[in-house]
Amino acid sequence: SSGINFGKFDHIAVKVTGENPPQAIDSFERANLRKFVVENVLKSGYKKPTPIQKHAIPIIMNGRDLMGCAQTGSGKTAAFLVPIINTLLQDSRELIVGENGCAQPQVIIVSPTRELTLQIFNEARKFAFGTVLKVATAYGGTAVRHQSDQISRGCHILVATPGRLHDFVDRNRISFDSIRFIVLDEADRMLDMGFIPSIEKMMQHPTMVQGTDRQTLMFSATFPEDIQHLAGRFLNNYLFVAVGIVGG
Ligand code: ADP
Ligand code: MG
Repeated sequence: SSGINFGKFDHIAVKVTGENPPQAIDSFERANLRKFVVENVLKSGYKKPTPIQKHAIPIIMNGRDLMGCAQTGSGKTAAFLVPIINTLLQDSRELIVGENGCAQPQVIIVSPTRELTLQIFNEARKFAFGTVLKVATAYGGTAVRHQSDQISRGCHILVATPGRLHDFVDRNRISFDSIRFIVLDEADRMLDMGFIPSIEKMMQHPTMVQGTDRQTLMFSATFPEDIQHLAGRFLNNYLFVAVGIVGG
């Protein structure tokens, strides 16, 4: 592990708003997760959930949409990956690849940079290790070929930057018909980098699963008004979890 003292987050105030939030968890072992998932989490060196994980994991496992705000380094990646992977294993659905090799991921995680995309991809592979789940990536600045081959073999989870995601969608390599989860990670940075029109395009895509058949999760280190506004539009009866001070 990175040697970060996660105990330091324990005394930070957590604010939860929204209807009927589930009880926060206090350990991975008692979170009602599948044994395999707990083992993979512990093998990654995570002994105790961080505050955002304590709240986000049961919220996502309960099928709710979430806007999660917590500082950088507070464990937001596992806060969404662990419950998503658990749900995919618990309630598994057939992996679909169209005849033309067009993949239908069940989860798309959008992140602003190649570096973050690779971090999320690596963490997802650790938590899904030894399971049937396939994870793929799509990010720019590198040849399309390898990513395209990987995607066309089918993927449950796709971690992508907005530009390359749309390249693949426009080439009919990815469709949104089988989506169960959309995660917008680092929403505030995506806003600063001008990615919101791209996110809008994904959300309004004709093949995108809409309404309560899809769970939408947004994460951000800060919560400026523009992000509050987007949360209101993309999320459905969502819970808001803020760890510490998250002003604009
Ligand atoms: P954020 O997305 O909030 O910036 P990350 O998810 O990238 O934070 O996590 C920061 C670091 O802390 C990573 O190295 C990650 O592996 C580690 N980490 C996350 N959750 C835990 C945990 N519960 N126990 C130990 N290490 C953790
Ligand atoms: Mg992060």
